[in-house]
Amino acid sequence: MENKDSRRDFIRKAALLSGATIIGGNAVLKAAADQQEQISGQENGMGGPLVFEQDPLPYAFDALEPFIDKQTMQIHYEKHHQAYINNLNKALAKTKISDKQDQNAALMHLFQTMSGQSTAIRNNAGGHWNHKMFWEWMTPNAKSTYAGKAADAINAQFGSYDKFMTAFTDTAMSRFGSGWTWLVKRETRLEIISTPNQDNPLMNIAEVRGKPILGLDVWEHAYYLKYQNLRKDYITNWYKVVNWEKVSSLL
Ligand code: MN
Repeated sequence: MENKDSRRDFIRKAALLSGATIIGGNAVLKAAADQQEQISGQENGMGGPLVFEQDPLPYAFDALEPFIDKQTMQIHYEKHHQAYINNLNKALAKTKISDKQDQNAALMHLFQTMSGQSTAIRNNAGGHWNHKMFWEWMTPNAKSTYAGKAADAINAQFGSYDKFMTAFTDTAMSRFGSGWTWLVKRETRLEIISTPNQDNPLMNIAEVRGKPILGLDVWEHAYYLKYQNLRKDYITNWYKVVNWEKVSSLL
């Protein structure tokens, strides 16, 4: 992490020295992108600006055992998520729209302009944000307590925790192939929806748009090592590691 931080620092300083302006706290700078391209090209051989970086996992790879196994977590985080980030950075380098420093703001911008973006950007921007959130939507079983604003809102909307789980599981089971299941906030309502591939309900191309407050990865890579074809067992066990505090914080 030290290397990444010092590189980011260096990029920021280089951009400031080149006389560029800072707008609203985000240094959105052509100079920074140029510096970044040179630096990342030297450091990792990717040849593109490394704008997006992976946050540290908020717990150990084995922290969600036995519900989500250590090997799945490690491969999912280190290989799958990292690949979306690498491919997003490559795709943005080609289109020259990678000049924002704030990861979240840049992702939101991409989602809102998705109809004008390439398939590579759609898949990998979605893949990055969806996983970034997925790690935060989970927590060790001992800390997974269905309570607070999330529980109140879910009980009010769906009748009970069990009714919510039944509806969410049904939607997750009916997603053919790869995709995600979401609990979204739409104005004052909560709704359960599903998207294919790495799409999400923030994208302007989504059939149903809303603010995701909880999401479940139903790609086989999320469960196959432990659960094989038993997606329903994976979903049932995943509820035991949901971070309800995080869900409440998004309401
Ligand atoms: Mn995944």
